[in-house]
Order: sequence, then C-alpha cells, then structure tokens
Amino acid sequence: MTERIDILGVKVDAVTMNQAVERVISLINEKNPSIVATANAEMLLRASHDEELKNILNDASLVVPDGAGTVWAARHLGKAMPERVAGFDLVQELMKIAPARDIKFFLFGAAPGIADKAKLKAESLYPGIKIVGTRNGYFKTADEPEILSQIKNSGANILLAALGVPKQEKWLAKFKNQLNIPVSIGVGGTFDVMAGIVRRAPLWMQKARLEWLFRALLQPSRAGRLVALPKFVLKVHKQKIGG
Ligand code: UDP
Repeated sequence: MTERIDILGVKVDAVTMNQAVERVISLINEKNPSIVATANAEMLLRASHDEELKNILNDASLVVPDGAGTVWAARHLGKAMPERVAGFDLVQELMKIAPARDIKFFLFGAAPGIADKAKLKAESLYPGIKIVGTRNGYFKTADEPEILSQIKNSGANILLAALGVPKQEKWLAKFKNQLNIPVSIGVGGTFDVMAGIVRRAPLWMQKARLEWLFRALLQPSRAGRLVALPKFVLKVHKQKIGG
C-alpha cells in the first residue's frame, strides 16, 4: 500500500505512474465499481470548500497527483511524493497496455464529435485498442437514462469521463453503481488534447512545471483560473503551519 497524503483535506496517493497503472489494472478485477481521480491544484482547492467533492475524492479508490502544484504541496508538507501523474499521461499509459490485456474503453464527454476524434487517434496510436463506445458530454437530465444504458451495455472495463471538474466526479459518484463499469476516471480536457483541439504544453514547459501557464496563455478563457494557484499555495502553507 502506498501512502495517502492529506492536502487540504483530500487524501492523495503517493504513487508513481507505474504504480497508478498497476492499481487501475487490479481495480478492473475487483467486484465493486471504482472511481479514480486525478487531483490537480485547482481540484484540491475546490474540494477545500466543496464538501461533496471532498467526500467523493476521499471515497475514491485512487487519487493520483496530477500537476506540479499537487507534487509541490505534498513536498512542502514534508511528505515524499515520487512524481507527477498527469491524467492525460495516465490515460495514454492505460491505452498503451490495453490491447494486450483486453481492456475496453468508453469515452464519455467533450463537445459533439470530439470523443470520436479521440477514438480515431487512440486507434492509430495503439493498434488493436478497443474503444467500445463514445458519447458527447453535453446533455440534459432527461438524456441520462439513455446515456446510462449506452455505457452500461457497452462492455467497457474503463469509463473515461471528460465533463470537467467537479461535474465529472459528481456524475460518476452518483451513477457508478448503476453503470457497473469496473473503473471510471475523470479525465478533464484529455479528449480535446487527443482530438488535436487543444495542444499540450511542450515537454520543456512540462519539465519546468509551467504547463498551467501554457494552458492559461493558450486558452485565455482559462486565465481567470490562474488566481486559484496563489490561493492554493497560501492554503497549503496555512495547513503546514497548522492554521
Ligand atoms: N465538458 C462537457 N460537458 C460539460 C462541460 C464540459 O463535456 O457540461 C467538457 C469540455 O468540452 C472539455 C472538458 O469537459 O472537453 C473539460 O475540460 P477542461 O480542460 O476544462 O477540464 P478541467 O480543467 O475541468 O479538468
């Protein structure tokens, strides 16, 4: 068992990418449907004032340290956090091993047509991969029964839900027992990146821990979210000094 580190009240697993992949594989074989969350600074900050989200994350089977902010926070609190496990990268690693292990995916979320583009991309990158269904993430409550039955009857082992935070986590928590899919992962903007709609930061920026800055510059609509970062830093520091 790896350590779970408390960051602003959310227990984040101190896992490497390899450990996260292994954990997901073992969750596929468990009876109860599991939720896997990818916690970046923004999600952790939101959870600190959104009790429902915090509870969902603390009940999740695995919460990976997504983003430089989460890794920084753990280390600032004096805990060992081996590396960043970005949601996008976790999805790619799982897709890579999927054909050999007969893992089947359902892609749920993003604007109409995007999940289909992400599916095509996955099929070209990972030959033999089985994407057993797609569905866009813009729907009304009245559409939910149909969406639930589409996902439930797809035969997927892993449901990737890209509805944004915290909608995807809340939706998965509400419906996981009805869906009865072994593993569900909230993956944010992953399909947009796979479909080529949004670019990922260049590797040097990722390594310099500046991916957040790249995203803000590329999607000015996200710039407002930048204020979350200093707030997160202050809150983590307050936690450290016991405030
Ligand atoms: N989205 C969706 N349904 C909604 C709201 C958002 O499918 O009702 C999608 C949106 O199109 C995008 C993803 O959710 O593909 C959220 O991406 P973002 O990069 O904002 O993720 P976050 O930062 O919230 O993880």
